[in-house]
Amino acid sequence: MASLVVQKYGGTSVGSIDHIKRVAERIAETRRSGKDVVAVVSAMAGQTDQLLKMAWEISDAPTQRELDLLLSSGERISSALLTIALNAIGCQAVSLTGRQIGLQTDNKHTRARIKQIDGERCKRYLEKNHVVVVAGFQGVNEHGDVTTLGRGGSDTSAVALAVALNAEQCEILTDVDGVFTADPRVVPDARKLEIISYDEMLEMSGLGAKVLQLRCVEFAKKYQMPLIVRSSYNNHPGTLISEEDPNMEQPVVSGIMYDKNQAKITVKGVPDQPGIAAKLFNALAEASVSVDMIIQNISEEGHTDISFTVTTEHLADAMTEVNKVNEEINAETISADASISKISIVGAGMRSHSGVAALMFQTLSRENINILMISTSEIKVSCIIDEKHTEQATSTLHEAFDMKTDPVQIPQ
Ligand code: ADP
Ligand code: ASP
Ligand code: MG
Repeated sequence: MASLVVQKYGGTSVGSIDHIKRVAERIAETRRSGKDVVAVVSAMAGQTDQLLKMAWEISDAPTQRELDLLLSSGERISSALLTIALNAIGCQAVSLTGRQIGLQTDNKHTRARIKQIDGERCKRYLEKNHVVVVAGFQGVNEHGDVTTLGRGGSDTSAVALAVALNAEQCEILTDVDGVFTADPRVVPDARKLEIISYDEMLEMSGLGAKVLQLRCVEFAKKYQMPLIVRSSYNNHPGTLISEEDPNMEQPVVSGIMYDKNQAKITVKGVPDQPGIAAKLFNALAEASVSVDMIIQNISEEGHTDISFTVTTEHLADAMTEVNKVNEEINAETISADASISKISIVGAGMRSHSGVAALMFQTLSRENINILMISTSEIKVSCIIDEKHTEQATSTLHEAFDMKTDPVQIPQ
């Protein structure tokens, strides 16, 4: 069999009939170069949002099972249209849904995780020289009900399929030239990265760079699948995401990410006793609310304050749980603030450099941006700030870390 490439085309890339025709030409060209192609597609740009909006217009709490059926239809439309376009230009193709490629998931509607893919049907069509066009973002659970993989989930469909079919690589074709040092829409002089490690990309996706869904990077790392992010509008080489090369000097800071989808809950005046934090965070864990940063103040007169962050989508559930637990922990006040954002710097070279966090704090302070919380890992530093400063913070940090040069120099 010829070598196989899995290509994922995002929503903007298939956003109109003209775009779909262009993508068909691109796939046909790859076929002519002698490669087998499996194309995974997202819904046409804006369609998933539109479908969601309609459901919300009907109900404040649409049933999750039906939401999945609704949302999966966007990818069915684009996959069928792209296949029609391919066949129309003489490139034999067939479209398949999540169910038809045997993509099995768990039962968590709207954020399901992939359990397995039976690639047999895809393989049969590839052997018959077809391009296989797969509707991304969807699978079926053990009951045969349609599930979806969370926003941006077509990225994960593509990598999982590349692994199942033993593809040589997985290409994510999108509306920017690759992974940049910061969101190029916010920092126009952001630099495209030629290569980046799975670990750095994991941090970047987890910290808000929506160019790749986090689960897709986890999959690629686990199965060592080379991932390439590149533009569907040109033939530039894009960014390669692969294992870290120990012989290469790592840039101290590879990227700056922001995430506005954050909220802070503050529980004031709780007794400073063993077991209070355990009660609070146990209740949140049991309600499947993931807590990110936590700060506990120094105790005063036997009382203390605890602040923590959750994503905005978990805020309502988190507040319900905290109010319930408060019957036992007797806090003086409980408040929530959704107008915050998390700004982060990521880089494998941080492991061997000092002064990185300090430069971040100095830069923010010079701009009069107050830091509300801080968290660090081996290869990242994150700060919670007021949401209104997000873009300013991203741009000034990009400048302070001199992200246009490579590698980044940190004053010691
Ligand atoms: P698609 O529809 O192709 O899946 P997405 O909108 O999900 O595309 O992701 C691409 C977008 O991610 C870009 O248009 C860009 O604005 C945004 N983005 C955020 N951070 C980064 C980054 N560090 N590098 C590249 N793109 C980024
Ligand atoms: N259409 C889905 C979304 O908008 C999945 C995807 O594009 O990857 O999130
Ligand atoms: Mg995406």
